[in-house]
Amino acid sequence: MPIKTIIEPFRIKSVEPIRWTTREQRMELLRQAHYNLFLLPADDVLIDLLTDSGTGAMSTHQWAAVMEGDESYAGSRSFERFRRSIQNVFGYKHVIPTHQGRAAERILFGVTCKKGDVVPNNTHFDTTRANVEFTGAEAVDLLVPEGRQPALAHPFKGNMDVAGLEKLIGRVGRERIPLVMLTVTNNSGGGQPVSMENARRVSEVCRRSGIPLYFDAARFAENAWFIKVREKGYESKTPKEIAGEMFALGDGCTMSAKKDGLANIGGFLCTNNDLLAQQEKDLLILTEGYPTYGGLAGRDLEAIAVGIQEALEEDYLRYRISSIAYLGNHIASQGVPIVQPPGGHAIYLDARAFLPHLPQEQFPGVALAAELYLEGGVRSVEIGSLMFGPAAQMELVRLAIPRRVYTQSHIDYLVEVILEVWKNRERIRGLRLTYQAPFLRHFTARLEPID
Ligand SMILES: *Cc1c(COP(=O)(O)O)cnc(C)c1O
Repeated sequence: MPIKTIIEPFRIKSVEPIRWTTREQRMELLRQAHYNLFLLPADDVLIDLLTDSGTGAMSTHQWAAVMEGDESYAGSRSFERFRRSIQNVFGYKHVIPTHQGRAAERILFGVTCKKGDVVPNNTHFDTTRANVEFTGAEAVDLLVPEGRQPALAHPFKGNMDVAGLEKLIGRVGRERIPLVMLTVTNNSGGGQPVSMENARRVSEVCRRSGIPLYFDAARFAENAWFIKVREKGYESKTPKEIAGEMFALGDGCTMSAKKDGLANIGGFLCTNNDLLAQQEKDLLILTEGYPTYGGLAGRDLEAIAVGIQEALEEDYLRYRISSIAYLGNHIASQGVPIVQPPGGHAIYLDARAFLPHLPQEQFPGVALAAELYLEGGVRSVEIGSLMFGPAAQMELVRLAIPRRVYTQSHIDYLVEVILEVWKNRERIRGLRLTYQAPFLRHFTARLEPID
């Protein structure tokens, strides 16, 4: 029989203890946190799936590189390594370091967008949308319709609606569209991938209209893996070759190195346009730092230079994507409603279908996330009515899996916790708000159970 057990393609050299609490303690901790898991001390969480951003574990090679960090203000050796590693994968002419992805966004949109402009994207991530809108431009999401149906299984639910893009260009005119963006994978749409064919068609439309194409590349390696295993003609290509082929369809990218950079902080901005690069570096000096460090320490540049390459290793990607699929498929086979198919960095529970007895105004997603904590000390995040208000399209609970942090037995534990909550779902009560801030209320909201 072929061996099926998923194992981590690494062994562990340094461990970080996690702390058990009793159910009674968690009951009290939940009450003190006003049923909002953002307000919990991380030490009281057993398995933390709040985000996959900046929460990954670095390799021995990355830690060794950290010690090689050159902290020179200008012209550091670490920047040269960073630039070479990124160009080796992305292929763009100019590489500009930033402290996070959103800083790269602010600079890119700051130099390219103005009031009245329109920026199309398959789906804007929240900071991306905010940075487009901050310039006075309009952020338009053009996702294929399949991407908006949680239960529908489709291999590339992150694809852009190409006909919609052509229609938009026809309607507003190419002069008002400074760039088109493709987010790979589509974070806000369930971590779903974009196919090479779709990227190619978007690129053709952009070239024909003379509009630059940029990638929001935060999870480019996971996207490349999905192309390898799902798209015809890519079975025998390496993730690195696939990533290179995709980036060659565009003119630049923004990147949060806290995701597929396998680093705890950092980001960058790439472009092939000399004039734009100059303007971007001028702005960078004003807000981030000199162009050979961009708000990062030399050691961070080193960690990213190594991480970018490690994120493309086949053994790593196979383990990561199959371990997340294992979690999603296991719970789905017992009836738990999830966004199908399992995404590249997270499993999304459909709280509306999980708790049909709770109306939207009783925050089913927040109630489900609180119950997962109570049952097993697991922290997840609601992506629904608390985050987006009554306009929320879906009530989801995201279980984001940090990179190289948890083992397969942690995943088995998660399956058990989720199935236990599923079994007792009818007993879960709704919540009501007792405090909300005027903006981004989900971070600080307080709630209480409804009797
Ligand atoms: C995380 C993320 C960003 C923003 O990056 P930060 O490093 O958090 O500033 C932008 N786009 C996508 C798709 C992301 O997932």
